[in-house]
Amino acid sequence: MSERRTYYLTTPIYYVNDVPHVGHAYTTIAADALARSRKLRGHDVFLLTGTDEHGQNIERIARERGIPEQQHCDEIAAVFRRLWDRLGIGYDRFIRTTEDVHKRGVLKLWDRLVGARTPDGREAIYRGKYAGWYCPRCEAFKDEDELRQPGNVCPDHERPCEWTEEENFFFRLSAYEEWLKAQIESGRLRIDPEGRRNEVLGVIRQGLKDFSVSRARVKWGIPVPQQPDHVLYVWVDALSNYVTALGFADDAPEYRKFWEGADERLHMLGKDIIRFHCLYWPAILHAAGVPVPTREFAQGWMTKDGKKLSKTTGNVIVTDTLIDRLGVDAVRYFLLREGSYGQDWDFTDKAFVGRYNSDLANDLGNLVSRALTMVGRYCEGRVPTKPGLVAAVEMRFEEDLQLPGTVKHRTGVVLDSYEALDFSGALSEIWSWIAQLNQSIVNVTPWELAKDPARRQELEAFLYRLLEAVRIAAVLVSPVMPGATLRILRMLGQQGAPPNPSDLAWGVLEPGTALGAIEPLFPRVETKTEAEAKEKSPVSDTPVPTPAPPAAAPAGGEKIDIADFAKLELRAARILEAEKVPGSKRLIKLQVDLGDERRQVVAGIAESYEPEAIVGRNVVIVANLKPAKLMGVESNGMVLAASRDGKAVLCTFAADVPPGTKVK
Ligand SMILES: [Zn+2]
Repeated sequence: MSERRTYYLTTPIYYVNDVPHVGHAYTTIAADALARSRKLRGHDVFLLTGTDEHGQNIERIARERGIPEQQHCDEIAAVFRRLWDRLGIGYDRFIRTTEDVHKRGVLKLWDRLVGARTPDGREAIYRGKYAGWYCPRCEAFKDEDELRQPGNVCPDHERPCEWTEEENFFFRLSAYEEWLKAQIESGRLRIDPEGRRNEVLGVIRQGLKDFSVSRARVKWGIPVPQQPDHVLYVWVDALSNYVTALGFADDAPEYRKFWEGADERLHMLGKDIIRFHCLYWPAILHAAGVPVPTREFAQGWMTKDGKKLSKTTGNVIVTDTLIDRLGVDAVRYFLLREGSYGQDWDFTDKAFVGRYNSDLANDLGNLVSRALTMVGRYCEGRVPTKPGLVAAVEMRFEEDLQLPGTVKHRTGVVLDSYEALDFSGALSEIWSWIAQLNQSIVNVTPWELAKDPARRQELEAFLYRLLEAVRIAAVLVSPVMPGATLRILRMLGQQGAPPNPSDLAWGVLEPGTALGAIEPLFPRVETKTEAEAKEKSPVSDTPVPTPAPPAAAPAGGEKIDIADFAKLELRAARILEAEKVPGSKRLIKLQVDLGDERRQVVAGIAESYEPEAIVGRNVVIVANLKPAKLMGVESNGMVLAASRDGKAVLCTFAADVPPGTKVK
């Protein structure tokens, strides 16, 4: 694979004026997935996140809360860290701009700026008079044409701006137009996606204005040494976290390695802050004689149900609630799978639950459970014999199950997609493989191979390949769902260590290794519409059907009343697990999903069906039968089947039906 590269990756630092919202989580999960995927490539990665804690807003909020600013910052920063821990974010450093090492770093950068000359030989920093419409919430002066009239209202905050005049320090951005244009056009500073790059170049074409870098009247910040009643403004204070966190103040080894010496320095951000990150920040660094970022990637907005997220209207997505509902892995998966990173996309609860059930519970969950169940049954729960790389026997499943060479190709495609921040593309590549693997089980019918001792080699070769494919797919998913990967690896009898590049090689599983216990990965959940559908059609609402014509009644059978029939509770159920009842030829023990519950049902179908062949099938269950014991195994219900020549034929559905659906 590619050579070892040094890779520095940052999220924006988040402002502690409020607790984290889903947009923060989205960026941070993406950054974490990218960092993990680069580690999987063998790169030397450093992931930075943190909090921006200075400014007028924090002063105001702390005053309103009646507590010191630092206490407020400590509390909110802790909320961010707790959420990142919960989401499994593996950051290397959490920087806070109230840290001493940050303040010293900012002053070092400032010191360099004060002595710096622009490309045309003027002072990069000068004193000037600033006057304009100022939004205290944005902490920014607004251009007149940005404001909503009447009342000079900030469009982002729906509050009037204040006309403000003050003398402060300026950075001479206008002198860096040509330099910035050259950086961006040459790709030395790469801006993604393309649309954002064009936007930044458009801003340069309109002419860059100098910007103010200090503020009078603000106390909560880093005082300007030349004018201690001013503090350094956010562009110098906050943006510089990207270097101060690494120890810029002390020229620390980490700073030299991951900033100065890095092959890539990537900032991930929201598209609202590209101007500051793609123009102000590189110019500041360049003026100070510090290397600039190599790439900046702006993500799009999330909406919910087609509407803008907004606290005021209550259209919000609460990350903790999503986690409580379907777990961390599902949240990380959905956010990175559903939208195309860099574009705007719409969150709906229906899609969240839908993808969980189809992608995670059905596709991935079933694959893992079927593979492990078969190895448990046919190979005493141990990894079977490794087939030779050049198969001596021509095996008919060669095309179904990817050969090692193809696996290497797929791995490359997935890692390249991650590297391009195309998370959705990476996942869809993995899922097309999962679908192929599920299909290979159906095609190869290992339960048939198992009946014929002469085909033992074929069976073991198939199962070995299947397990290896499951293992590698799990490793490829690890940047997005590190928790699920570890659970799958544990079930495969592997150590619980985070995957590394050697785990992507073919043939890691050692024959004879005992598999771990099978645990349900992603239990299926009921969707809202399924629940509603059930509520709306209780038995009592059922219109009385017209009586069946006499001929339809079985010969000699006594006719029953509709009320008798209504006593039966027939429901659709999905078979989640199936295994033979030990010591019985006929009985299979099933775990079935009834929508709102999971049940164990014993069915006399073992002479007609192999257990693994019926996993995933939708069947009909008599759900209100009294529990009974068959061969000592408890059964809570009965599976409907027809009997033909002594063989059972399961009753199934002509179309897919959600588990739990009433049958009548
Ligand atoms: Zn504003």
